[in-house]
Amino acid sequence: MMVRLLSKTADLLDVPTSSLHAWSDSQIVLHWLTKDVKTLEIFVANRVLAITKILPHHHWRHVRSADNPADLASRGLHAKLLIDSTLWWKRPPWLSLPPDQWPMRIIYKHLTSKTSVSCLSATTDSRIDSTDQHSFSQALWKRYSSFHHLTQVVAWIYRFHHNCRLPSSERPSDKVLSSSEVARVKPTLFRLSQLEQYSDVLELISKGKTLPKSHPLHRFLFTISAYGHITISTRIRVPTALSTPSQLTLLSPKSQQTKLQTLHVTYSHAGTSAMMSILGSTYYVPGLRCQLKLISKSCPMCQRAYARPLQHQMGLLPPSRTTPAPSFDKTGVDFADPFVIRQGHTRKPIYVKTYACLFVCLSTKTIHIELCSSLSTDDFLATLRRFIARRGCPSHIFSDNGTNFVGAREEIREIQAMTTTKNTINAISYLTSQNDIRWHHIPPRAPHFGGLWEAGVKSMKTLIWKILTPHPLRFEELYTALVKVEAILNPVQ
Ligand SMILES: [Zn+2]
Repeated sequence: MMVRLLSKTADLLDVPTSSLHAWSDSQIVLHWLTKDVKTLEIFVANRVLAITKILPHHHWRHVRSADNPADLASRGLHAKLLIDSTLWWKRPPWLSLPPDQWPMRIIYKHLTSKTSVSCLSATTDSRIDSTDQHSFSQALWKRYSSFHHLTQVVAWIYRFHHNCRLPSSERPSDKVLSSSEVARVKPTLFRLSQLEQYSDVLELISKGKTLPKSHPLHRFLFTISAYGHITISTRIRVPTALSTPSQLTLLSPKSQQTKLQTLHVTYSHAGTSAMMSILGSTYYVPGLRCQLKLISKSCPMCQRAYARPLQHQMGLLPPSRTTPAPSFDKTGVDFADPFVIRQGHTRKPIYVKTYACLFVCLSTKTIHIELCSSLSTDDFLATLRRFIARRGCPSHIFSDNGTNFVGAREEIREIQAMTTTKNTINAISYLTSQNDIRWHHIPPRAPHFGGLWEAGVKSMKTLIWKILTPHPLRFEELYTALVKVEAILNPVQ
């Protein structure tokens, strides 16, 4: 992409390709550019071919990271340092010199054949005292972040130790560890960590003594397994069909954090309770819940999964909500979902839809509900007139915008169609101009602007659905129920 940009810019500025020079601080990339593409992997070869087609390899030069302005941007630089950076605002000092005085190009020697050398080396860490099992255990657990990796390494050491005692002909030739080889490593690792954390328990139990009552683990019955690590006896002695074990391995949460982290990943980053349930069938870990919470907190995957979106600070209320005014002087209007009512007293009544029109006072949050028998312009205007006659003429009326109903259900689309038709708008304009009312639409695609009347509609629907019977009501019955709801929502102080 950079080479394409360079080529386009050079074309626009009429700079010939022969006078272009490009720099990179990646010696690997520069080496690829000089190589035969057939020797490269397909992914790299395709890109090298595209680059050298535009700018051949002899136009490329190496720049030290210290002289590369692009490094400042890619590695990040504080704004205060960037202001004073000569390298960023000007160029490397040698760039103003003639090209023959620029740093020398690196000559790459092509390797004609690949040679692989196997080297076996053994080192000892002077900080680890081989006679002290505590420090050895600490070093082991700290060295490896994966329990699986740790068991593999120790299992290979075991095999090496075992093979040293056998003649070459009897040594196993498999290049993969068997499950039994890995399985026998785990108790040893558990024992090493127990020696570190529970040496007092191990000492007492091996002497056949019980733990003092002051010890936090005194209520458990401990045994030492055949592998030498401490196990806790459960309350099950007789083998059952259930997979409940009779012995649990005692794990130290601190030294066994590597193991817990591995299990956390193995069990798909399960939650604390799920992990406790899984581990509880095999291990006993004091303070496990806290440890699992810590692991989950420090796990990047869990942090991403449980991340909560940033909550915006709430804005100030609009003046229409905070300015003192007579009741219903500033009113929000909205329609609720339709109700089905029955008409006629015959044995075959007609079922039709009616609509509850909700008026909310923006200053006092008082609610006024009117029932509108259809979504015709005339019926809506009649509803509006009834409201004005009973509550007084508002100076400002606020309503939803048509685009707030995008993706809404069919019933709401019907309401939107009625409120946004040209006839309705003209009729409302005529009525409002006669009564000196200013009609406001909230901004498009911002239904939260009408939060007050949306909340009113929700409260009204919550109550009315509890009152309604399974059989559709008559118009008068529904109207009475709505007035009852209105009275509940407007409690008399
Ligand atoms: Zn996780």
